Amino acid sequence: MSKIKVKTPLVELDGDEMTRIIWKEIKDRFINPYLDIQLDYYDLGVEYRDKTDDKVTVDSAHAIQKYGVGVKCATITPNQDRVKEYNLKKEWKSPNGTIRSILDGTVFRKPIIVNNIPAALRSWKKPITVGRHAYGDLYKDTELYIPEAGKVEIVFTSKSGKEERALIHDFDGPGVVMGQHNLDKSIQSFAQACFNYAISEKIDIWFATKDTISKKYHARFRAIFDDVSAKRADELKKAGIQYSYYLIDDAVAQIVKNEGGMLWALMNYDGDVMSDMVASGFGSLGLMTSVLVSPDGKFEYEAAHGTVTRHYRKYQKGESTSTNSVASIFAWTGALAKRGELDGTPDVVAFAHKLEKAVIDTIQGGEMTKDLTLLCTDPNAKSLDTFQFMEAVQKRL
Ligand code: NAP
Ligand code: MG
Repeated sequence: MSKIKVKTPLVELDGDEMTRIIWKEIKDRFINPYLDIQLDYYDLGVEYRDKTDDKVTVDSAHAIQKYGVGVKCATITPNQDRVKEYNLKKEWKSPNGTIRSILDGTVFRKPIIVNNIPAALRSWKKPITVGRHAYGDLYKDTELYIPEAGKVEIVFTSKSGKEERALIHDFDGPGVVMGQHNLDKSIQSFAQACFNYAISEKIDIWFATKDTISKKYHARFRAIFDDVSAKRADELKKAGIQYSYYLIDDAVAQIVKNEGGMLWALMNYDGDVMSDMVASGFGSLGLMTSVLVSPDGKFEYEAAHGTVTRHYRKYQKGESTSTNSVASIFAWTGALAKRGELDGTPDVVAFAHKLEKAVIDTIQGGEMTKDLTLLCTDPNAKSLDTFQFMEAVQKRL
C-alpha cells in the first residue's frame, strides 16, 4: 500500500507521562504506516524543557507560526512536587500558556459524541463547544503577598506622563493582592475568532461574564462582544444563528438545562473551569478535543486532558492501564484534516476522517477503555487496556 503524501510539514509537540506513552503508540500505529509525512518535532517533555530553559516551548510555537498547523501531546505544568520529582531548575510556566500567548489564540473545546455513551445530563443532546479566551487575566497576573499593614494601590503611568491611581486596599495586617490585565486587541481577536467559529459551524453563540460586579474589566469584554455582534449582524442572520449575552452564573444555570449545540464563549479562567465541567458532563475527559486558533489562522490541536498521572504511576509499576486515547487520536486527525484542507490535499482529509470513523465505530461496536464502559448504555461493552483499544481501532482502519 502506498503512503498518502502530506505536503507541508506538521509541527509535533511531544509531552509527558501516560500521554507520551500513548503518543508514541499513535504514531507507530496510525501515522507512520499510512502517511508520508514530515514531522517538525519538538520535545516538550518536562526534562527537555528544563534542559533548554524552556526555549523548546518557544521554538515550537514559532514553528506553528511558520507552518500553520501543530499537534500537541499533554504536558506537565511543574509545581514544587514536580521540581523535586524531576530535579528541575525551576517551576517552568505552563507550556500551553506560553504557546497561547505567542499565538494569541482562542481555544475551542468540543466533545466527541458517541451514540452509546450518553451525557451525564439527560438534557445534553448536542455538543457544547467551549471557546476559551487564551490571553491574560489570572494566567498572566502579578501577585504579591502582603506581609504587614500597609496600603496597596494600582498606578497607571501613561507614555505622556499622566498618572492615574486607585486604592486596592488599606491593609491592617497580612494578606494577598493580585493584578490582572487584558488588551482590547486580544479581546477583539477572541471575539472575532468566536464569531468566525460560530458562523462557520452555524451554531448559536453565548457569551458570559460578571459585568454586574466587574464594571470596567468584565464590562469591556461584553462591550467588545456586543460591538462585534452588531457589526456582523448580517452574517449571523445569514447563518441563521443568534448571539446572546448572559451573566456567568445565569449561563451556568441555563447550560445544564439546555440541549446544547452552541458555542459558549468564556473568559480565560471561566473557560478553563467550565470546559472541564462540560467535558466530564459529556462522559470522559478522554472524549474532549481542543484546538487553539490564532487570529491569523494558525492551528494547534490537542486533547483537553492532562498527562493522566494516576494511570502513569500504575504503568510505571508494570500494572495494566485503561487510558482513553481518543482525544489524543482526534488531536492528530484534527491537525491532519486542517493540514489537508490548507494544502488542498483531500486524500489527507479523507484519511483523517477514516481514522475518526474507525475510533467511533470501535466504541459503538462495544470495545472501549474503562472510563467509557462505566458510562456505556451497552451492558456487554468490553473494557480494553490502553494498547488493546488502539489495536482494535487499527483493525478497522
Ligand atoms: P488529568 O491528567 O487530565 O487527569 C485527571 C483524571 O481524569 C485522571 O486521573 C483520570 O481519572 C481522568 N482522565 C483524564 N484523562 C483521561 C483519559 N485520557 N483516560 C482516562 N481517564 C482520564 O489531570 P491531572 O491529573 O490534574 O494532571 C496531570 C498532569 O497533567 C499535571 O502535571 C498537569 O500539569 C498536566 N495537565 C496538562 C494539560 C495539558 O497539557 N493540556 C492539561 C491539564 C493538566 P481516574 O484517575 O479517576 O481514572
Ligand atoms: Mg482545566
